[in-house]
Amino acid sequence: PPASATAVRDAFLSFFRDRHGHRLVPSASVRPRGDPSLLFVNAGMNQFKPIFLGTVDPRSEMAGFRRVANSQKCVRAGGRHNDLEDVGRDLSHHTFFEMLGNWAFGGEYFKEEACRMAWELLTQVYGIPEDRLWVSYFGGDPKAGLDPDLESRDIWLSLGVCASHVLSFGPQENFWEMGNTGPCGPCTEIHYDLAGRGGAPQLVELWNLVFIQHNREADGNLQPLPQRHVDTGMGLERLVAVLQGTRSTYDTDLFSPLLDAIQQGCGVPPYLGRVGAADEGRTDMAYRVVADHIRTLSVCIADGVCPGMSGAPLVLRRILRRAVRFSTEVLRAPPGFLGSLVPVVVETLGDAYPELRKHSAQIVNLVSEDEAAFLASLQRGRHIIDQTLRRLGPSDLFPAEVAWSLSLSGNLGLPLDLVELMLEEKGVRLDSAGLARLAQEEAQHRLRQAEPAQERGLQLNVHALGELQRRGVPPTDDSPKYNYSL
Ligand code: ATP
Ligand code: MG
Ligand code: MG
Ligand code: MG
Repeated sequence: PPASATAVRDAFLSFFRDRHGHRLVPSASVRPRGDPSLLFVNAGMNQFKPIFLGTVDPRSEMAGFRRVANSQKCVRAGGRHNDLEDVGRDLSHHTFFEMLGNWAFGGEYFKEEACRMAWELLTQVYGIPEDRLWVSYFGGDPKAGLDPDLESRDIWLSLGVCASHVLSFGPQENFWEMGNTGPCGPCTEIHYDLAGRGGAPQLVELWNLVFIQHNREADGNLQPLPQRHVDTGMGLERLVAVLQGTRSTYDTDLFSPLLDAIQQGCGVPPYLGRVGAADEGRTDMAYRVVADHIRTLSVCIADGVCPGMSGAPLVLRRILRRAVRFSTEVLRAPPGFLGSLVPVVVETLGDAYPELRKHSAQIVNLVSEDEAAFLASLQRGRHIIDQTLRRLGPSDLFPAEVAWSLSLSGNLGLPLDLVELMLEEKGVRLDSAGLARLAQEEAQHRLRQAEPAQERGLQLNVHALGELQRRGVPPTDDSPKYNYSL
């Protein structure tokens, strides 16, 4: 079986090209083309949406696609598939990952062939022991009038999968949708048992085989599509972890050069792969966050999505700031550190995605500039907080206007929860009710004027503030909503 991530990726592509006659297509940019329903490309199928919907331009090359395969750059931060809050906390979710996929359009092949090819690749080419694999199929959704997908169950049984390893789940798990609208359908998934023989299985999801048959319309209704299609996606990082025998994607050769560079650049103890409470001081989490985020930043900037004020650029800016905070506050990284990791990303991914090499200088510049700007804002913010504290009485709340001026209204652009954290360090409480009032007024004002493209970012902010108000407590870095506030 192939060993390096590069060999694993290549083996996937040549399996579908050489053994099963698929045409290889390049990854699309992570910036969705002409699809306002998405912030980032979140699955391999995104670029084929016009084929599924039957709206493909008959003169385009895509109109001739029947069976294709590729390795697609995906970003899941914001939107329906948002994994940002899991990154760093667990060992299998990334904001950027590569999705290996194969497709059969218009009934070129369907469930039986798709499952058979997947099983052949995993067990014969990659040599994964069959008893480590589990599969799931769609158990139906009576409320939506959708039947169980017993066909998929029977296919797995006929392929020799042991009945106790074939499980059914509801729409949450086994009905795949790309966004709030768009092509969708029942899916059958292949999971890998990290624990192995014996005790309770510890499953990580590896490969999703979706049978696209419907379109979710804006009113929430499912509309049958003119044709049926196969759409599959498997996370390369997880597959490589399985094949390299590591429990986590971070211990593969996709991430270890980055972890090594972090250790050297920051002079911290080596990465130990601890999670949760065992990860004292959250050093390992910081390693993971920084390694994950610098990949996402590099890939996005190479594709022309740069940190900015609304929509996808705003999400990217949060990602950058989260990386800066973890690198400086936990790992004590020197200024300019993030930019120094970009060449490592380019080295690991540049052969597969040449745009990274092409734009590497620009990526370094942008990351470094933004890191410096954020560090300067932090310093200036600390100064303003100190000045304000000097004129407050011991039991006074920190004035909402000052907090607001430090945060999104533009002056400093610090995330609000960060402002609160800085106040907490100083032992002072924020006038949260006053701040929520200010935010409400500002949001109403801006919504009246906003262009549609800006609304998404704004609604997120309002949502975060509402949340804050309801809970009546400042969110901490560990609170699950951390990444979504301002
Ligand atoms: P999970 O349940 O683990 O969040 P998912 O069901 O959201 O995964 P799918 O939308 O089915 O994932 O995507 C297909 C495949 O892409 C998954 O089976 C997995 O291997 C991979 N994948 C999904 N999300 C991520 C991620 N955030 N990081 C790395 N790989 C991912
Ligand atoms: Mg998910
Ligand atoms: Mg899943
Ligand atoms: Mg899935």
